[in-house]
Amino acid sequence: MIQEHLRHVEEKICQACDRSGRDRDDVTLIAVSKTKPIEDLKEAYRCGTRYFGENKVQEIMEKYPQMPGDVKWHMIGHLQRNKVKYIVDKVAMIHSVDSLRLAQTIQTEAAKEQVTIPILLEVNVAGEESKFGLSVEEVIPLTEQISTMKNIHIQGLMTIAPYVDDPEENRWVFRELKKISVDIEEKNIDNVDMYVLSMGMTGDYEVAIEEGATMIRVGTGIFGSRVHLL
Ligand SMILES: *Cc1c(COP(=O)(O)O)cnc(C)c1O
Repeated sequence: MIQEHLRHVEEKICQACDRSGRDRDDVTLIAVSKTKPIEDLKEAYRCGTRYFGENKVQEIMEKYPQMPGDVKWHMIGHLQRNKVKYIVDKVAMIHSVDSLRLAQTIQTEAAKEQVTIPILLEVNVAGEESKFGLSVEEVIPLTEQISTMKNIHIQGLMTIAPYVDDPEENRWVFRELKKISVDIEEKNIDNVDMYVLSMGMTGDYEVAIEEGATMIRVGTGIFGSRVHLL
């Protein structure tokens, strides 16, 4: 099942790249394995998956020692400051930085571990009340503030687009995130890069690729639907 799903997603990625004149190698597929058992992750790993996305610190802590060392763990969910210390030495990237205080905590913990953490700023492009993330106006000021933190490297932006029936409805969201990243790039801020655009999920990753996504986060499209246990 997972193997077939991965093959299907891979085909769709290639088609979206072809349509938009992009190189397949410029898009990284992150397999969002939240709530899924370790056997499912291992199966995806056997099929070649190396990038896994999780949204809970606890789950990363449990799964991390059970998977091979070459797995790249991506923290994609809302991160509480008191939990940063558990993952700074484990994650390849934090996609969900949305406040100065969180960045300060990441800086402190990363300095203790003597590592530099690649991060993305999460932008709530559509302004949905229910979502975390910076408003569009907050992004540039926060980028400038975080740029001075030595153990943090801003590598781009992330957004979670609204849940829609027709992925075309989210095209403007992806276009807007791309535009913000170009605006920031033109400012040439020291210690800030904008080569990552993390956007697009199972329902809309093809449109996101057409609009410039360099990382897509696909969960149900690979692992099947999630059972929510409370
Ligand atoms: C769960 C999740 C995804 C994956 O969602 P699917 O619709 O299952 O592909 C992507 N990004 C974030 C931040 C998530 O929490």
